[in-house]
Amino acid sequence: MDSQKAKILVVDDSQTMIMLIKTALEGEGYQVTTAGNGKDAVGIIQNMTPELIISDINMPEMNGIEFREYVNSQPKLSLVPFIFLTTKDGVDDRIRGIESGADDYLTKPFKPDELTAIVRLRLSKSQRVGSLIKIDKLTGLLNRRAIDEVLADEMERMKNRNSFLSVALFDIDHFKKVNDTYGHQTGDMVLSTVASEIKKGMKDLYYAGRYGGEEFIVVMPDTLKELAVKVADKIRDSISKLTLGEMNIKPTISCGVATSPEDTPEQGELVASADRALYMAKESGRNRVVPFRKTEFTC
Ligand code: GH3
Ligand code: MG
Ligand code: MG
Repeated sequence: MDSQKAKILVVDDSQTMIMLIKTALEGEGYQVTTAGNGKDAVGIIQNMTPELIISDINMPEMNGIEFREYVNSQPKLSLVPFIFLTTKDGVDDRIRGIESGADDYLTKPFKPDELTAIVRLRLSKSQRVGSLIKIDKLTGLLNRRAIDEVLADEMERMKNRNSFLSVALFDIDHFKKVNDTYGHQTGDMVLSTVASEIKKGMKDLYYAGRYGGEEFIVVMPDTLKELAVKVADKIRDSISKLTLGEMNIKPTISCGVATSPEDTPEQGELVASADRALYMAKESGRNRVVPFRKTEFTC
């Protein structure tokens, strides 16, 4: 992630203050989104996840401490650095601010250089921690936890916009045989090659994750089933053409595709539907993509 392009949410009821902060941050190349109070900021967070938040305390509708309490309740914001920037400079105010969970407490008037230095430091720390927690080491794809978070975010965004979303669940065929025949290390090489083939075969707007041992998932926002099946089949096809290592291993992959809301509006049920279709892909011969169909798959 490029910290210079990080998305920062600035919450303040003073337009003058917003302009001063925005100018300082944009001068450093950050993307700034602004809100006039905590309530508006909550609305913005429904549709985007900022990488850092700067908030005033005294604001109408919802003040900074209340806004911070909301942030505390959102798992997706648990690693997002939060800075209070306020005129309240009493010791009690500072204690209350820090106790509410803020990372820093700065007072107005602020020095632009000091603010941007703190922002830079906080972003680089949180990005370091975030990249350790979110990425699967072997494949470089998002790990299970991260992909579940992405899916939750995208499902919510989909509902807010009356849109749709597809998921493709992939499982390598007879992978146990690769391990048993050539050893775990060769198995790992096959896993990471298949993962990069998945990554190569999809649009930048999609998310790829390692869902389990030799199971992968691609989350496709704003994508109907027909297109999702095409994307998945292109990936399947490219994997079936690989020849790997000295042993000329030829991996294949099976896939199930499900779409929300047409198959189900629920996140867990969506992945379960894709899994049922994946099972059908295995049963009917492997190396194929099967779309979930309610009528055929409901037991
Ligand atoms: P199917 O076509 O039905 O999916 O058969 P399969 O052999 O792929 O499925 P099965 O679930 O029986 O075996 C999956 C294997 O994947 C078993 C497990 O040891 C292996 N595996 C899981 N994670 C890793 C890993 O990180 N590295 C390696 N090398 N193997 C792994
Ligand atoms: Mg499996
Ligand atoms: Mg398998």
